[in-house]
Amino acid sequence: MNLKEKIRVIPDFPEKGIRFKDITTLLQDAGSFHHAIDELADYVRGRQADVIVGPEARGFVIAAPLAYALGKGFVPVRKKGKLPAETVSMGYELEYGKDILEMHKDAIRPGQRVVIADDLLATGGTTLTAIKLVEKLGGIVVGVAFLIELTYLNGREKLSGYDVLSLVQY
Ligand code: AMP
Repeated sequence: MNLKEKIRVIPDFPEKGIRFKDITTLLQDAGSFHHAIDELADYVRGRQADVIVGPEARGFVIAAPLAYALGKGFVPVRKKGKLPAETVSMGYELEYGKDILEMHKDAIRPGQRVVIADDLLATGGTTLTAIKLVEKLGGIVVGVAFLIELTYLNGREKLSGYDVLSLVQY
């Protein structure tokens, strides 16, 4: 099945020069969505993960069905101020300015094997921040799984030392 042809590329969104990878066209196609999650699930099975972590918002759409398909738990990573219980936080640089990501303090138990799943690997900044949060809680990041990888942004280099899978590359 060709997942790439189901991804819609929108030029100059959200700003000029960005070629936005729109996954809604893949998600709305039942067969493609199912196939994508199954492929990612095969990878995660091989990594023997206990829990799947997904950053908001599009990461939820990948990580939650993945966790369900594997019979594992799902843990959200959210922007600052969204999680109601005690959190750990980590700041990261964006193209313009800074942002903060958070996880619940009791979301991961020390020694748990974690896979982080997201829609797209661009610079790797978001994923690296999620990795740091998981490690702060004592989790072991055994893999990182993406639907899409923008290879020209070298996110994989930023994640060196971690096992990275992507289903579709640009
Ligand atoms: P980064 O932290 O640079 O790896 O980017 C993280 C997030 O930005 C990804 O998970 C995407 O949701 C979003 N993103 C970055 N570039 C694109 C793009 N060209 N098309 C769609 N989403 C993007």
